[in-house]
Amino acid sequence: MPKPIAENWFTVEHLSDGVSRIYEPHMADWLRCNIWHVRGRDRDLVIDTGMGVRPMLEEMTQLTQRPVTAIVTHSHFDHSGGLYEFKTRCCHPVEAPTMAAPTLANTVADTGYVRAEAFTALPYEGFSYKDYFVRPAPITDMLDEGDVIDLGDRVFDVMHLPGHSPGSIALYEKETGLLFSGDVVYDGELLDDLFHSNAEHLAESLNRLRELPVNTVHAGHYMSFDRQKLRTIIDEYLAGGRRPGDLDAWIRGEMEKTGE
Ligand SMILES: [Zn+2]
Repeated sequence: MPKPIAENWFTVEHLSDGVSRIYEPHMADWLRCNIWHVRGRDRDLVIDTGMGVRPMLEEMTQLTQRPVTAIVTHSHFDHSGGLYEFKTRCCHPVEAPTMAAPTLANTVADTGYVRAEAFTALPYEGFSYKDYFVRPAPITDMLDEGDVIDLGDRVFDVMHLPGHSPGSIALYEKETGLLFSGDVVYDGELLDDLFHSNAEHLAESLNRLRELPVNTVHAGHYMSFDRQKLRTIIDEYLAGGRRPGDLDAWIRGEMEKTGE
């Protein structure tokens, strides 16, 4: 049966602390990335940008009310695909070359996650997952450990947390205890075996997060969680759990869970 063309590609959920979660409901939930919109007095933040298969700024007019700093927590396709749309584009210097010249390999779009089952509806007539690619989005501002992002009335500290990828960053707002963690930690199976992953570095990064007085983690995938859950996820990973294993079997299992 041919898949329908999606009318709206994005869905927004307004949360507390001036944070909205934008997501692509027609991406299977095992691939779907959270796009975080954080409102500030002078500027807004967009943290991660989704697949980039439909223009986000046309559909999400709330993103054009103030200047936006767009940050990718890392360069993987499901987070970086939409970065090209923004004027101010940030990531860690280690992954900036990927954003200037993305390929299927360096954005990990060649790992088997981009497949027909990943799309429950199509972004436009004639779309095929086989044609998927990430558009170049040269970085305008590098972000590294210790940098501070100031939105006028709120500030975010940049943490460099390598492991899932070498240039993974997280953003931490001390005032509210919000942590935007990207793929360093989320409530699912954590990936430490991609071509540029380093499991030892990921363990060090998670040990750092374990001691951070966070209130809420807004992660790169799945739902948000509190500090206690953060510690549980980290402890389970460090004890050898929370790894997806065989990709095809894992995707089949995830699809059975959600009845897709
Ligand atoms: Zn990733």
